[in-house]
Amino acid sequence: MPTDVLKKDKVKLGFIGLGIMGSRLTRRLHADGWNIRAWNRSSGPAREFRQAGVPIAASVVDLVADSDVILSSLANDAAVDSVYRDSAGVFSSAKPGTIILEMSTISPQLSHLLHTEASSVGVRLLDLAVSGSAPAVEAGTVTLLAGGDQNTFEQCRPIYESIAKQWFRMGGGASGVQMKLVVNLLLGVGMQAVAEAVSLGEHLQLDKAVLLDVLSKTAVIPPALVGKFKKIESDDYSPQFPLRLMSKDMDLILETARGVGADLPAACVTKSILDANVEANGDLDLSAITPFVFHHTSQQSNLRQTPDSDRVGA
Ligand code: NAP
Repeated sequence: MPTDVLKKDKVKLGFIGLGIMGSRLTRRLHADGWNIRAWNRSSGPAREFRQAGVPIAASVVDLVADSDVILSSLANDAAVDSVYRDSAGVFSSAKPGTIILEMSTISPQLSHLLHTEASSVGVRLLDLAVSGSAPAVEAGTVTLLAGGDQNTFEQCRPIYESIAKQWFRMGGGASGVQMKLVVNLLLGVGMQAVAEAVSLGEHLQLDKAVLLDVLSKTAVIPPALVGKFKKIESDDYSPQFPLRLMSKDMDLILETARGVGADLPAACVTKSILDANVEANGDLDLSAITPFVFHHTSQQSNLRQTPDSDRVGA
């Protein structure tokens, strides 16, 4: 255990990105007594956070200049790249010794670049990917997957205790995001499998509520997917983990797999279903692929059952 473990009453935190994840993580840290300020690109969330007692910085530079630990949860590679590497980004103004916990799901390549550039300006960076969606953040039960220096990882334990149920250091820089891609491969393909199972059950005219209840009691469904059953049953696809983010993660997974020669056929099929949904349903929850798979397979089978002579153009 390092002697310089972070102390709540001694360090100032700065949180960048108040989206679905960042807003909830910031609320938890604030509620647990951390001295925290935040910054978000658009001004939407500012009023709510100011009212709750979380000051909003005017810029990234303003936030970073007065923070000992920077945390960020941003949409994708482009967002992280600009927030960290632009001329008015985090690396332009972080004091040497600052700790950075970068929590977005990004490509391992960008994560490696952040580690290299962080060390060249004397700041300590961990990639700290999050497994678990909005309800898990609210409950403080996410899993954290870290890559980077062991001592820095241990130093930050009090922050993990405020937001997570468990945390693992996977190895050196970028290994946290690599593990996150491994985990989300299972989430994406698993959601596709659930959508197909529900579709089959519905085509067999099994009662949907009973089907979901029985499935939830079997050993074959992981908790993250059981968590989607309420949404499927009530047809409420308001976002916890938006489909557009799973689509982004599936791109990262397939690109990373290609780079190391891993063949992922089920992931390719999953990606094609996500691609077909991302434009119209990208802001809905990932579980919104369930009705799509049902209707899509129904249409396909109608087509298959239509005699060739009845088809337009036949
Ligand atoms: P989100 O709700 O879409 O929020 C994205 C955040 O990124 C917003 O604060 C947005 O600011 C900011 N942003 C986007 N483009 C930017 C840019 N060019 N410059 C500066 N800021 C920018 O996403 P989220 O669900 O919170 O997810 C955040 C990260 O966590 C993602 O990498 C995601 O894959 C990962 N993650 C999500 C979940 C989940 O269940 N949601 C679970 C685990 C991991 P604006 O408000 O200005 O748009």
